[in-house]
Amino acid sequence: MGEYEVAALECEGEKIGDIEHLDFVTVRLPFLHPFSISKATWTCKEALLVRLEEGGIVAWGECVADPDPYYAYETTSTCAHVIRDFLWPCVEPGMTLGELFGRWALVRGHGMAKAALENALLDLFAKRRGLPLHEELGLPRRRVMSGVSLGIQDSPQALVDAAAEAVDSGYHRIKMKVKRGKDLEYARAVRERFPSLKLMVDANGDYSLTDAERLAELDELGLMMIEQPLSYSDIYQHSKLQRKLRTPICLDESILSLADAAAAVELGAARVINIKQGRVGGLVEAVKIARYCAARGVPAWSGGMDETGIGRAVNIHLQAEPGFSLPGDTAETKRYFPEDIVSPPVTLAEGGFIEIPGGPGIGVEVLPERLDRLTIARARLK
Ligand code: MG
Repeated sequence: MGEYEVAALECEGEKIGDIEHLDFVTVRLPFLHPFSISKATWTCKEALLVRLEEGGIVAWGECVADPDPYYAYETTSTCAHVIRDFLWPCVEPGMTLGELFGRWALVRGHGMAKAALENALLDLFAKRRGLPLHEELGLPRRRVMSGVSLGIQDSPQALVDAAAEAVDSGYHRIKMKVKRGKDLEYARAVRERFPSLKLMVDANGDYSLTDAERLAELDELGLMMIEQPLSYSDIYQHSKLQRKLRTPICLDESILSLADAAAAVELGAARVINIKQGRVGGLVEAVKIARYCAARGVPAWSGGMDETGIGRAVNIHLQAEPGFSLPGDTAETKRYFPEDIVSPPVTLAEGGFIEIPGGPGIGVEVLPERLDRLTIARARLK
């Protein structure tokens, strides 16, 4: 047993029932505004949804992969392939979730595919027991702090305006996307306008170690962290960069598992971890990473992938885990979509908090009419 092992969750002992079938439902939701990061721009959210049906219960999981491999190597197509041909065939009635994870360990990587099916199974378990998803995970109810992520803007002033709007809305922290040439001047403009704002930047891997001096100039701005400055696949170079920066480095894309998080923390490559449950294989692995981080005094938070209301609800339940000590990326639905496929949408309560949905499972209802209208493909697996 490696020293980073974290105790199993109770839900891993729960048994899989007689699931009648699995449906893939691919939806396309137009964004209100295009969302740009250092290397890509998206104008809509295309998501692969996993729908399970058992004894009249319908459960949902959302795959966070994009149709393209510009953010991660997994895509909606690879996820459908891996689920259909490798993950779903492992599912047998009577086996526990932990046993299923044991079988899935044969499939290397593909955490987004695993998470989509794991999320749907946990939603099913929770609905079967009449429990909200966070209780199914053994997590206490608490208020979830909300932060917001602002895409790359055309000018520093446009960014300041977007930040002002987010501050007015009550968000606990603002993250701004940066890239070479759209970094220091932009961050400085926001910092000058909001001297005490909890502010951070996310480079999505746009820099290299030779940019260390440039990145060190950000130290003067008192940022909470700089997220993923170097390559999406790197951990070690980040440990070298961290020694040259006062600003804590947060790793996001590099963290595909608990083992990656442990490597990053122990190498000194990250002082903060962005845990995306939809990338690390699901909720169980995400809770374990958060607990690993908490045990070592490393702050962690829940990142977003511009999820529809299904994935958004999952991320909110997950943040009931106290190891998520910093505000996450789960922002209000209305910032992203003119209409979502679930009800109720995510809204910000007084003080910039988000309520955890109270009903069984994910606690939000998938709206059939909207789902039909926004669906672009369906397929059923027996
Ligand atoms: Mg990020």
